[in-house]
Amino acid sequence: MYNIAIDGPAGAGKSTIAKKAANKLDFIYVDTGAMYRAIALYFIRNGVAADDEKTISDYADGVQQVILNGENVNDYIRTEQVSMMTSSVSKYPAVREKLLNLQRQLATEKNVIMDGRDIGTCVLPDAKTKIFLTASAGERARRRYKEQVERGIECDIKQIEKDIIARDEQDMNREI
Ligand code: C5P
Repeated sequence: MYNIAIDGPAGAGKSTIAKKAANKLDFIYVDTGAMYRAIALYFIRNGVAADDEKTISDYADGVQQVILNGENVNDYIRTEQVSMMTSSVSKYPAVREKLLNLQRQLATEKNVIMDGRDIGTCVLPDAKTKIFLTASAGERARRRYKEQVERGIECDIKQIEKDIIARDEQDMNREI
């Protein structure tokens, strides 16, 4: 299989590039951030606190295969609240291990272009093509702001920039 890995911080344009390339190459685009976001949304909806590692780990270790019982949650996982919760719960080893296995499985079955934070280094270290895509926090905040406004979500660009910097900090300084 030919696998392409794209890593980089929030708002750098990873998914935009990956979707376009996947279309052109006829590859499957795997949005690993959406997998982590769906798990975070589940915890928000069930009132689980971000620092409750035990409950979160038990869930990730469990037998549940279909995230949110098959409900399509695409429209609910991109809010700032879910972004921060995602960054908080994705640092736990049990959550990462669960999704890592699903991500690797996908890459053995299909040609994939996969974006995330750890794809080239950890999930697909043997990917034939590896890209690290980044941009300044200000530029990434502008893009996220535009995206939210287009979705009809009211937001404050300064707050988004603050959240992006906080999320980078949390994503880059975790143990795993
Ligand atoms: O890429 P996106 O902004 O959708 O990712 C949301 C969050 O999910 C990131 O801030 C990060 O904490 C987590 N994530 C991760 N590993 C990945 C993809 C996303 O930890 N491969």
